[in-house]
Amino acid sequence: MSSTPVRVRFAPSPTGYLHVGGARTALYNFLYAKKTGGEFILRVEDTDLERSTEESMRMQINDLKWLGLKWDEGPHPETHADMGPYGPYRQSHRKEIYLQHAQKLVESGRAYYDFRTDAELDAIKERLIKTGKPPQIEAPETLVPLTEARARLAKGETAAIRFQVNRKGEPEKREYVLNDLVRGEVKFPSDMVGDFVCIRSNGMPVYNFCCAIDDALMKITHVFRAEEHLSNTLRQMMLFEAFGYASPKFGHLSFILGPDKQKLSKRHGATSCNDFRLKGYMPEALCNFILLSGWSSPDGREILSREEQIELFTYERFNSAPAVFDDTKLLWMNSMYLRALPHEELWSRLQPFLKEAGLTIPQGDDVQWRDHALSAFKTSMQTLADAPKLFEALDDSKFSLKPEATEVKAWPDTLKVWAAWKSELEKHAAKYITEPEFAAIQDRVKDQTGVKGKQLFQPIRVAVIGTPQGTELKVLVPLLAKSSLINRVDRCLKA
Ligand code: GLU
Repeated sequence: MSSTPVRVRFAPSPTGYLHVGGARTALYNFLYAKKTGGEFILRVEDTDLERSTEESMRMQINDLKWLGLKWDEGPHPETHADMGPYGPYRQSHRKEIYLQHAQKLVESGRAYYDFRTDAELDAIKERLIKTGKPPQIEAPETLVPLTEARARLAKGETAAIRFQVNRKGEPEKREYVLNDLVRGEVKFPSDMVGDFVCIRSNGMPVYNFCCAIDDALMKITHVFRAEEHLSNTLRQMMLFEAFGYASPKFGHLSFILGPDKQKLSKRHGATSCNDFRLKGYMPEALCNFILLSGWSSPDGREILSREEQIELFTYERFNSAPAVFDDTKLLWMNSMYLRALPHEELWSRLQPFLKEAGLTIPQGDDVQWRDHALSAFKTSMQTLADAPKLFEALDDSKFSLKPEATEVKAWPDTLKVWAAWKSELEKHAAKYITEPEFAAIQDRVKDQTGVKGKQLFQPIRVAVIGTPQGTELKVLVPLLAKSSLINRVDRCLKA
């Protein structure tokens, strides 16, 4: 038995960066396509010309690439040219298709030209509200006959094209039943909506209209999308029916809430993929985290590779209850992924953060040094953005005697300790000093100067990092070349 190949889509409106909620929708659709051997389509819903921008589309495409969610059809990831047999993939390039479809509805009598002005429509809504009825627009008592409507349009009048939910002679109320893959059976009475606009009087098609036509023409089989679209589904079902198109299966995903149980928004801090990228989160960790914000693995496992995610993914495991965005868990997950990265990869991912902080760490080209430094530091890092404050101590150009060192500098024994430290360093033959060698050097400085405790350790600390506070010296000293340590103590002696 051959079944229809799965085709799913992610259909963002390019009105800003990709939000984590959108990223989750994209991830679920992507995983479902991979799991079933289907196709994952990217469709840009940019008919809202006031809010959609070219720049937002570019940003969202970049965010999807960053997350590693590769699409099979849609705008090409680099050139943005259409890629695939069902294009164009940007709604703003499909206007003709929508207008032709609207004409079909008008001709079949399922839609009508509505010449009423905004003021007239507002007055109707006001009257409805006053009589306690929902402000839903219905067709006027007598429709303008099609030939007359066309003649008026030809003369320059404008009219919207409205879908007529309830035609004369049809039962006033029908029930539409959606078998939602997440929410189960959802019943919509047809009078939940009034006659809705398909094409605005300015000629622009409306989201619900475009979306239904595109899902049908692009042969979409399953739609996983945010719960806020549930109320659109009735209109879309009516459109599928009117055109005689097969409806995809729908699954409406539960909301993602902030810790205060309100819908996740900018108020809660970082919410876009770009925010998280800049804060040093890694795409694998973010994907793994959002996977679990609305879905769970059958055995409760939390860290899942992309391959495992694909293998385990089924829509039966979506949670219909809202997910709460847990920053602490995301941070934990990121640190787990960070520690598991091969050092070469981790080092390369740290570069933009080190560069941004103005750090130059040429030692990093030495594989052994790099391994040593990353082993020492990575357990102190939860995000990539934690690197600069750890690596700063290793950049010679950043060394200076900080104001916090003033007191230590003034101690009577400090100069003596610095001189002995320098001479011990000079006696050391190798380029680097190991941790036990450093302990032995400290002991010799103590013996030579007769200084001990705080009076000994603090001056050495200042001679290495310019301040009495910071990462433990036994971690830092082995990562600094002898020449660099000598140079630093020299600068202290001169100060
Ligand atoms: N363009 C819609 C949005 O960005 C998505 C519509 C859909 O998935 O059906 O919210």
